[in-house]
Amino acid sequence: MDQADTATFDLEPPTPEQLEDLSADLDGDEKRVLLQHGTEAPFCGVFLDEKRDGVYTCRLCGLPLFVGGTKFESGTGWPSFTQPFVEEHLQYIRDTSYGMVRTEIVCARCGGHQGHVFDDGPPPTGQRYCINSVSLAFTPVGEALPDKLGRGAPEGEVLEG
Ligand SMILES: [Zn+2]
Repeated sequence: MDQADTATFDLEPPTPEQLEDLSADLDGDEKRVLLQHGTEAPFCGVFLDEKRDGVYTCRLCGLPLFVGGTKFESGTGWPSFTQPFVEEHLQYIRDTSYGMVRTEIVCARCGGHQGHVFDDGPPPTGQRYCINSVSLAFTPVGEALPDKLGRGAPEGEVLEG
């Protein structure tokens, strides 16, 4: 799939020093989920009722991962999306923990754990990206994206809808 805007984000991983700096800003829950592949309790996520248009970014490194318009009410208690911001911003890992075969999703840039993807989602993709809200930050349309790694535009800029 050739998407012109994927080239604009710098996917070079953060240095160990940068990663340490970023991790220092996380609270206990965020650390447990993002860095230790934990799962937050359902129905306590802060974005469950977020209906605005905008971009969901990696809480750790600021990379855009999902867009508001693809979020749907899954009834699972976790924020759920039908498709990523762009495929290249996620990395898919086979997860056989707990006696299940699942597909884990991590941020393609920093490796921060996001959640899992299941193939029982609604149209048009049939995919259900089930994400821990502590793994995400939200930027409403019209506000500047985070630029946590100092990479420059398009990070730190207002994203065009
Ligand atoms: Zn990240």
